[in-house]
Amino acid sequence: MTAPLWTIRTLLGWSAPWLAQRGVESPRLDSELLLAEVLHLRRIDLFLDPHRPLSAAELAAFKAVIKRRAAREPVAFILGRREFWGMEFRVGPDTLIPRPETELLVEAALARFPDRSSPLTILEMCVGSGAVVCALLKEFPNATAVGTDLSAGALVLARANVEKHGFAERIALLEGDLDAPLAPEASFDLMVVNPPYVTTQELDGEVAPEVREWEPRLALDGGADGLRVVERVPPCAVRRLRPGGLLLMEIGSQQGEAAGELLARGGLVNVEILIDFNKLDRVVAGNVPPLPQMD
Ligand code: GLN
Repeated sequence: MTAPLWTIRTLLGWSAPWLAQRGVESPRLDSELLLAEVLHLRRIDLFLDPHRPLSAAELAAFKAVIKRRAAREPVAFILGRREFWGMEFRVGPDTLIPRPETELLVEAALARFPDRSSPLTILEMCVGSGAVVCALLKEFPNATAVGTDLSAGALVLARANVEKHGFAERIALLEGDLDAPLAPEASFDLMVVNPPYVTTQELDGEVAPEVREWEPRLALDGGADGLRVVERVPPCAVRRLRPGGLLLMEIGSQQGEAAGELLARGGLVNVEILIDFNKLDRVVAGNVPPLPQMD
């Protein structure tokens, strides 16, 4: 007797419920993404050819990745990549996986600097995989940037992403805490930062296992109130932004008011809380005061 032949359709019919039983939130989508990867197909090809049989080697490869997903490893880590701002980025366990909400940082920069050709100078602290700064360098083709991160592993990925997108000539990546690696006189038009802002309690409790067990704690843990790093950012903005320069910082969904106060107390003006597509607080914006006008 020959063994039953697995096809794309029958395999997805097995893997999706199996992942669902293990608590995976989008079991069908994840199965499709992983199967497409194993078969070197696009997701749409799975529908176009549902009766395609799998070889023993393909079956073994698919089972291996499905097991990883069942252990709640994020799909982006299994694939080693994630899309952000329509660009593909390498990701790995040393950085956060770029989130769709984080695109609000890029949108906010575009709204506040309408001249795309301006030679902006950008500082991104906690640069991680480099997704945000690469999106900004794409949108502002004459901009240059510095990215800093405490994690040497994150900077390896950031460097790979910067090179992949052809921005190596326009960015310097420096290891260290917030603005500490910069020369004393370095100053910028725009500062962006997605600091760790999850409270330690949330991280040990309600956060999904994909985040808690697989993403780097250094990039997430904002201490007891989530603001341990957030509160250190306004002084950096005052030190590092030119008069009138803009700070954009990602924050947690409950942190709008507290973060807004931190910016205002730190001396920033035009402080605003920006809401993401889920209608949650997501970004706090503020300017360093401009120089007084001469008449
Ligand atoms: N948005 C992320 C999460 O909810 C946290 C990102 C961060 O701390 N910067 O898991």
